[in-house]
Amino acid sequence: MPETAEPSIFSRIIAREIPATIVFETDTVIAFQDIAPKAPVHLLVVPKTQEYANVVELAAGDPALLADVVAAAKQLSLDPELMGEYPLGQFRLIFNTGEAVGQTVFHVHAHVMAGHLQEGSLA
Ligand code: 5GP
Repeated sequence: MPETAEPSIFSRIIAREIPATIVFETDTVIAFQDIAPKAPVHLLVVPKTQEYANVVELAAGDPALLADVVAAAKQLSLDPELMGEYPLGQFRLIFNTGEAVGQTVFHVHAHVMAGHLQEGSLA
């Protein structure tokens, strides 16, 4: 993280400074329930470094870490407790990239979703 940057809300979850329902964690990524779910299954997968603001920066800077995010999403989608009635292994992966399309947290994260999005949701 740049020395001047405040920890992102997700860095504070990673540091256990604020609570979250954490469902998966490795050395490089963490996954937790979205605080305001926009679909019946709505998880977030977040690299533990806040160095990358969005998926474009992540892909350019650390493609292996992007692969870790995708692998975590796949693993989550195979968990019957998390997926409920939705087919295991099938999921929607969304990276909002830019304010105009709904990005609000500039610490790259993947939305892992299943089921219908809430009406009007950008995810
Ligand atoms: P974005 O809009 O940046 O793509 O997604 C940010 C997501 O983070 C939103 O879906 C929002 O509900 C979720 N979110 C924001 N703050 C928190 C928080 O403190 N805890 C959790 N679990 N999710 C959060």
